[in-house]
Amino acid sequence: APPVRRCRGLLRSRTMPHVVCPGSFDPPTLGHLDIVRRAAQLFDRVTVAVLINPDKSGPFTVDERLDLLRVAGSGWANVTVDSFDGLLVDYCRRNGIDAIVKGLRAVSDFEYELQMAQMNAGLAGIDTVFIPASPEHSFLSSSLVKQVARYGGDVSALLPAQVTAALARKLGR
Ligand code: ADP
Repeated sequence: APPVRRCRGLLRSRTMPHVVCPGSFDPPTLGHLDIVRRAAQLFDRVTVAVLINPDKSGPFTVDERLDLLRVAGSGWANVTVDSFDGLLVDYCRRNGIDAIVKGLRAVSDFEYELQMAQMNAGLAGIDTVFIPASPEHSFLSSSLVKQVARYGGDVSALLPAQVTAALARKLGR
């Protein structure tokens, strides 16, 4: 993982020391990690939180996703990895988290994300900060990666090396 260079300006230090990057991460992609790395530059502390969702599981178990995220983020001192179920805002309250960070890939992400952000702000007064996807990741999603890999496509440029290897094992290659 490239080193985190922390922002020493306005954002550092004050209002949002601890943020969460929530998601399914099934599996984590370079798009996810780009958002986590940039959040780690902006905020004091980042928790990457894997949503435990019994309706949306596989191919990776939650424990496998946590392990993959831990390895991928191991170079970043202010990033920790955890899982949660239930409402994200309850998890935030239990853990002293000040804000939610989400990546925005395209306009198509926006409507749903705005709705969720407004709901979370209304429920608990917890705001959401959007970080724009890097252009090279704006087409990238876990589901697309899985689909392409299932049909034998090479997805190694889109994933951390250990995720590529784990996905190949899952697909029996
Ligand atoms: P997905 O299955 O669509 O990849 P996740 O629930 O795992 O979605 O995503 C968690 C968070 O990561 C969301 O805020 C999502 O917008 C963001 N994200 C996912 N892929 C990317 C990407 N390629 N670039 C930037 N942000 C991303």
